[in-house]
Amino acid sequence: MKEYIGQINGRTRTCGLVGNPVEHTMSPVIHNSLAAMFGQNFVYVPFHVRDGLQEAIEGAYALNILGMNVTVPYKSEVMQYLVRTDAKAEQIGAVNTLVRTEGGYVGYNTDMPGLYRAMEEDGICLCGGQVLILGAGGVARAVALLAAEKGAEKICILNRTLGKAQDIITELSEVLAETKENGTPELLALPLSEYEKLGGEEWIGIQATSVGMFPQNEDVIIKDAGFYQKLKAGYDLIFNPYETKFMKLVKAAGKPAYNGLKMLLYQGIIAYELWNGVAVTEEQAKEVFEAMKKEMKVQ
Ligand code: NAP
Repeated sequence: MKEYIGQINGRTRTCGLVGNPVEHTMSPVIHNSLAAMFGQNFVYVPFHVRDGLQEAIEGAYALNILGMNVTVPYKSEVMQYLVRTDAKAEQIGAVNTLVRTEGGYVGYNTDMPGLYRAMEEDGICLCGGQVLILGAGGVARAVALLAAEKGAEKICILNRTLGKAQDIITELSEVLAETKENGTPELLALPLSEYEKLGGEEWIGIQATSVGMFPQNEDVIIKDAGFYQKLKAGYDLIFNPYETKFMKLVKAAGKPAYNGLKMLLYQGIIAYELWNGVAVTEEQAKEVFEAMKKEMKVQ
């Protein structure tokens, strides 16, 4: 920590993270590195909130805290304690960034623009693409909305519990009916066990389940190597381990594979920009990414 936190004094602005657990968070590396680069008198601290979320948010406001990140399991619950939620975050149904305003915090979702920026940088284009989402949890739902918004031609959700995938598809068609005048994507929900029904070799596969996360590094959502031939690229939202089993299978099929570390980087950068009114350059983003990799002890 010593290398990126400056001197703390009476003018230091504080931001933090609320979640349960928070012990393994990488967010302090992102924000404290950025503060050092911008020479800002700013510090970012994780807060482990076991219960009492409302008291935590009200307490943070009373303590003049500039902004907060919100992580598992509070991204939806926190919305009721805000003065306002940004329209996109409202649609996603989850908030991961709180920005201080007169009377309370305003909630934003920087996870999805963060994923989009990461994908753009990795040369993955959702526009006109066939997007296959593995999982139907909170993040999968947001990814489905992002894919629709960015003009995917086809969106398929594969999930162990079919009902949850179907719920997202239903909701997505309602949102699309309201917002799109024409050109809506083809939508499909399938049980995980029926992945063989998928045709083509053009899917951008987005792994949005928790399967394969440290310490279950050898677990993978679909073991069959044949499945990975159907993908044109694979994006695992997990970043620990740095190379997941899913990524290894995508690479073994000869396709490019990416992890979720860049998504984490950019969701953090967007939050930092919202709090501090600055624009982070590409060079600075690269430097923070290197600091994150160093923290994870990866090359
Ligand atoms: P969630 O709401 O808890 O959803 C978990 C999903 O995983 C569900 O679809 C669940 O299927 C599926 N799943 C869990 N265990 C399974 C198993 N053994 N077999 C088959 N399916 C299983 O989680 P979330 O908040 O959406 O997060 C999903 C992933 O995204 C996590 O790994 C998280 O680390 C990652 N993430 C990354 C970032 C980033 O910045 N890179 C940000 C946020 C989240 P059922 O519906 O059948 O239960």
